Order: sequence, then structure tokens, then C-alpha cells
Amino acid sequence: MKYSNFMEVTFKAMSVNEGFARVCVASFCVQLNPSVDEITDIKTAVSEAVTNCVVHAYPTSVKGDVILRCELEDDTVTITVSDKGVGIKDVIKAREPFYTSKPSAERSGMGFTVMESFMDDVQVLSNSFGTSVKMTKKISSNVTEKVG
Ligand code: ATP
Ligand code: MG
Repeated sequence: MKYSNFMEVTFKAMSVNEGFARVCVASFCVQLNPSVDEITDIKTAVSEAVTNCVVHAYPTSVKGDVILRCELEDDTVTITVSDKGVGIKDVIKAREPFYTSKPSAERSGMGFTVMESFMDDVQVLSNSFGTSVKMTKKISSNVTEKVG
């Protein structure tokens, strides 16, 4: 293993924090020398995962936490977005394109599909204590030898 680093931040499940999460993960991933397209893909996927925590995880007015963790191993980014909310009853169904439990809230049901198309791998673990979305992406434009 030539290179290893991680960061973790916790913030409240509020839509005002979606932009913070995007910038936060993008700033951290810059050390792998991603292309503009790669960083845009990562920001978009993180945005969808965090938005899901904001919109779906905490249906009552009491908003809980979102934990954003980003790990770098060599040229691969692993991002985990977790909440301690209500969970997803049927993960396979939730991942289907156009499935949404909130059609009346103008949701299109494309969040997981977007994550899958912009990242190399997406794993969803969920139970009645919360949801964790783990996404990985190889940064192919990372050609610089790292020091330290
Ligand atoms: P869109 O993302 O297009 O606005 P959406 O959020 O409904 O719509 P997805 O992001 O694909 O679509 O999520 C599908 C469904 O999975 C959601 O409608 C919701 O029922 C469930 N879901 C997703 N993330 C969570 C979460 N963190 N906690 C609880 N339920 C979730
Ligand atoms: Mg969504």
C-alpha cells in the first residue's frame, strides 16, 4: 500500500449541509489528483446519498446525524454516508430506477441509480437503526507518485 488517508465528519441532516458535504469530500479527494470529471462524479454521488439522509432517514421534525467518511487507499476512494434513521425496508426495491417512496414530493427515484452510474461500486446496508451507503471509485488520472 503506497498511500493511505481518511477523514470523517458528522453533521445534522439538514439540506443546508448538502453543499458542505460536496465541498468537503471534493477538497479531501484533491490529493489523489482526480480529473474534473472524476471529482464531479464523486460530488454528485455524495450529494445524492446525503440528500437521501436529509429527505428520508428522519421523517419526524427531530433531525439526526449524517456521518460522511472518506478513505483513500492508493488510487481508490471509498466514501461511506451513514445515518441513524428509520432504515430501508426493501433495499433491492429502493435501488430500482424510478422507485421512490415519496412520489408526491417530486422525487424521481433516481438517487441510487445516479450513485451507481457515477461510482464503480455501491453497497447499501440498512436496518431499523439506520442506513449506510458505501461507494468506491478508482481515480484513474492519479499518476503522481505520492510522498509520505
Ligand atoms: P430522488 O433521489 O430521485 O430525489 P428518491 O430519493 O426517492 O428520489 P432514491 O434516492 O433512489 O430515490 O431512493 C429510493 C428510496 O429509498 C427512497 O424513496 C426512500 O424510500 C429510500 N431511501 C433512500 N435512502 C434512504 C435513507 N437514508 N433512509 C431511509 N430511506 C431511504
Ligand atoms: Mg434520493
